Amino acid sequence: MGMREISYIVVHATGGWKTQTLTSIMEGWRAMGWRNPGYHWIIDADGRRKQLLPEAQIANGVRGHNAHSVHVAYVGGLVSKGVYGDTRTPLQRRTLLITLKELRRRYPSAEILGHRDLSPDKNGDGIISPWEFIKVCPCFDAREEYKNLTLA
Ligand SMILES: [Zn+2]
Repeated sequence: MGMREISYIVVHATGGWKTQTLTSIMEGWRAMGWRNPGYHWIIDADGRRKQLLPEAQIANGVRGHNAHSVHVAYVGGLVSKGVYGDTRTPLQRRTLLITLKELRRRYPSAEILGHRDLSPDKNGDGIISPWEFIKVCPCFDAREEYKNLTLA
């Protein structure tokens, strides 16, 4: 901890159904050839949180920004086939808020924003999944929602 300089606390949606299992999410990453998880923290529909990677290590959340980012995702974002939206459950919202407060405390100078607020991958190396190219992740305005997050 503290080995990296963290500029961004990046909020994601996994981009699948909110019932998506961690196993299927990780299988998806392996299929894309990812060696590291996409996120440090992941929160399921019941508000349960899992750490996938120590924050001192680099996750695969947003190409070009990973060295200075900590990534947090809620499971979901898919409303119906091909349609994305904010599918966060009340329990997910609660755990996400708690997690972001903890991160804000650990990284007081970092900016909290959504994946879509960072520049797209201009190299077009095809590693980011197609739904992320359209820049909807995390399917709500995280920058706006958490702009006044206090250190309570
Ligand atoms: Zn994302």
